[in-house]
Amino acid sequence: MARSTTQPSGHSSLGRSSSVAWRHPETAAIRGGRTLDPETRSVVAPIHQTTTYAQPTIGEAPEFTYSRAHNPTVQELERALAALEGLPHARAFSTGMAAITALVLATVRADDHVICSDVVYGGTARLLDQIVAPLGVRTTYVDSSDVGAVVAALEPRTRLVLVETPANPTLKVSDLGALGDALRDHPALLAVDNTFLTAALQKPGDLGADVVVYSTTKYIDGHNVSLGGALLTHDSELVERIDLVRKTTGAIQSPWNAWLTLNGLKTLPLRMKAHSHNAHTVAQWLQRCPEVTSVSYPWLASFPQRDLARRQQLGGGGLVTFSLNGGLEESRRFVEALELVTLAEDLGATETLITHPATMTHGDLSPAQRTERGILDTTLRLSVGLEHTDDVISDLEKALGALSRREQVA
Ligand SMILES: *Cc1c(COP(=O)(O)O)cnc(C)c1O
Repeated sequence: MARSTTQPSGHSSLGRSSSVAWRHPETAAIRGGRTLDPETRSVVAPIHQTTTYAQPTIGEAPEFTYSRAHNPTVQELERALAALEGLPHARAFSTGMAAITALVLATVRADDHVICSDVVYGGTARLLDQIVAPLGVRTTYVDSSDVGAVVAALEPRTRLVLVETPANPTLKVSDLGALGDALRDHPALLAVDNTFLTAALQKPGDLGADVVVYSTTKYIDGHNVSLGGALLTHDSELVERIDLVRKTTGAIQSPWNAWLTLNGLKTLPLRMKAHSHNAHTVAQWLQRCPEVTSVSYPWLASFPQRDLARRQQLGGGGLVTFSLNGGLEESRRFVEALELVTLAEDLGATETLITHPATMTHGDLSPAQRTERGILDTTLRLSVGLEHTDDVISDLEKALGALSRREQVA
């Protein structure tokens, strides 16, 4: 776990006299870290769409030199993300995968060891197995909802414990407070991919995480318009290494996507409340359908880790995972009968999307690995959007109806 801590650096912000107003995420998301343009006093920060910056003389390094290192619009996003998360340092990346790659490169070297949740974003596992492993860094995958299993996998050279909670697509929850406590005396950093809940519903930094990881592509942008990633930490030494990796590998966010993400961020807490409400409503409805064999949603009474989820999360989030009776053919017929709900490999935005993990996000896993992780051929992950739930439910109902009608014919 990291020790060194610094406070956010001072900057002129929008009518701020103290950070008290930021206690509420709704306020922090709109006002946190935002600066007024000193020249125009424009309420929305301008886009600094520039690669380079004029320097006053030789030998004096100005704050901005080249946009691969820093850019004012990207920095505005970083201040805003840091304010919402309540952590002093944020760095924005071109994608979530660029952020995770920078985290790994900043924390491990040859012969080091990584522990990663066994149910994890497919790109993270691909990075660790196909890019990082050949460089001499081993990864052990463990069920991170079992703190004992994580502790048992620790080695003297474990430098990074990367946890995703709730897990994709099973929504299994890992106890971040217990993991933070268990790793307190070990040099490994605890990094939490908080993409599914965001700071609006879960604050890993308050629970013992050293690094919070995001694909901002999902809920933070929230409108399916910009790719992005972020790393947040209280560790000022780590952020220096992250800066070196980002500058060297060219992984920084673009000014335009940073500006789009800043706009999306403003409504994040409101959207997360609505996503959670809608997903809970849809999950409860799915539970009553005879064609549906199981429904996983953290706020359901049937969710095995319901108490932990309620302790750790401020809401259930927007994802619901369910399985149908039958096999691959039934999954295909079901998604083909949907009209409003869109089959796509993404989540976290205004449109309700459905994903078939076995062939899409988790298609790289062997059938045995999928079964072990609870991913069946009929498992579907729904990212419940912000349409009216009556419309989403009637679309699902119609598709389930198509399923049983065909069954009767057959
Ligand atoms: C999408 C996603 C990523 C990768 O983010 P990109 O922006 O697509 O590169 C990482 N982690 C989780 C949990 C994700 O859902």
